[in-house]
Amino acid sequence: MFTSFLRPNNLSKKMMRVIFSIYLGVTCLITSMQFLSEYLKTQDSILNELKQLEETVHDPISTSLWQYNQKQLDALIDGLIKMPIIEGVDIFDKNAKNIISKRSYTPASVPLSIFDTKSDLNWALNNEKVLLGSLTLYSSSEVVLDRVLFGFSLIAMTAIIKLSILFWLFIWAFDRYLASPLKELMSQLNKVQLSQNISERINLSNIENNELSLLQGHMNKMLSAMERDRERLLEDEQAKRNWLEETVAKRTEALQILNEKLKELATKDSLTGTLNRGSFFERTQHLLVLSQRQKSSVSFILMDLDYFKLINDTYGHFTGDKVLIHFTDTIQTFLRKSDLIGRLGGEEFAIFLPDTGIDDAFQLADKIRKTIRNAILEVDGKTVTYTVSLGIESSEPKDHLISELFKRADLKLYGAKEKGRDRVEK
Ligand code: GH3
Ligand code: MG
Ligand code: MG
Repeated sequence: MFTSFLRPNNLSKKMMRVIFSIYLGVTCLITSMQFLSEYLKTQDSILNELKQLEETVHDPISTSLWQYNQKQLDALIDGLIKMPIIEGVDIFDKNAKNIISKRSYTPASVPLSIFDTKSDLNWALNNEKVLLGSLTLYSSSEVVLDRVLFGFSLIAMTAIIKLSILFWLFIWAFDRYLASPLKELMSQLNKVQLSQNISERINLSNIENNELSLLQGHMNKMLSAMERDRERLLEDEQAKRNWLEETVAKRTEALQILNEKLKELATKDSLTGTLNRGSFFERTQHLLVLSQRQKSSVSFILMDLDYFKLINDTYGHFTGDKVLIHFTDTIQTFLRKSDLIGRLGGEEFAIFLPDTGIDDAFQLADKIRKTIRNAILEVDGKTVTYTVSLGIESSEPKDHLISELFKRADLKLYGAKEKGRDRVEK
């Protein structure tokens, strides 16, 4: 308690220390002033008493001196020195020679201050005053202090009692009106800070209409502003998240489309839109394995346009391209969904027919051959006709590689070319 008073760690204790120190200082000052005035008043009254005494003993001492009655003089001086307010008596003759000097204190215990009254000793003779000498009575601070000590003790005691009572009253008042509400304010603020509930507010018990209630109001306003800011931030964040999600979804869709296009580019021939060589062999290999597992036969038609170089040379490369497109577009109309067509290179194409025997494949190949042969193509005002040779091969149970079927179909195609072109060989 005492150390916390000396080194306070909170506002109310610090204020208490300041007020208490000021009060202690002022009390000490007032008490000292009271003591000083009491001291001086008492010293005055002692001086008065000394003077009265002097007046009382003046005549007997003068008589003793006049009569040279030393015994009486000594008795008088002894009586005087025994009086509590007298600390010393001096008698001087008319030549200022000290004839009697008595002190009630020893030389070792000389009082701090000594004051005196002095009067002449006279003897009246024939209505004339004869100077006999002088009488000096001494008193001291010790006598004054003896007198004032009781009064001063009373003053000091009342001051201490007042000080103690006020000290505890200050403590109570500060605690009641400042420290406790502040402590409650701090703990509630702490609770609000730690709480997840942002709508929580400070609500002091025993609140009165003063600075603390204003502080509470301001803090609650601040908390409301913070809550609004937080809600706004959350809304902003949600809007940003939505925007981000939307953007990501759009980009993902665009990426998917791009991916599809890329896949198409990677798997398809850009001129005719049919499968390119790599993806055609990859897919047909897979389908061949499946068909073999299901013990179903597949057919492979290999096709090569006849004298295509001549078409290029005669009509130009652009027309050659149109012929290639015309050829694949025509074939597509004869195919089922499950059939696959691919461009194996230049003007060489292949059709993979799942679940198809050699006869059905032949019928289809011949239908293609006839249709192409009868087709009349108009490019840039010129009429172009062309033919195609086809080699057909069907799978056998031992076939596990599409390249085997391809090789065999290639031989058949070679045969068709050999035999004059515009033919189907199976
Ligand atoms: P054959 O009847 O023996 O097959 O004779 P061919 O002229 O068709 O055979 P060849 O292999 O000598 O010629 C194929 C030609 O196809 C050569 C090449 O310039 C042409 N060609 C290859 N790819 C394309 C293409 O994408 N567009 C065009 N216009 N021509 C192409
Ligand atoms: Mg050719
Ligand atoms: Mg060729």
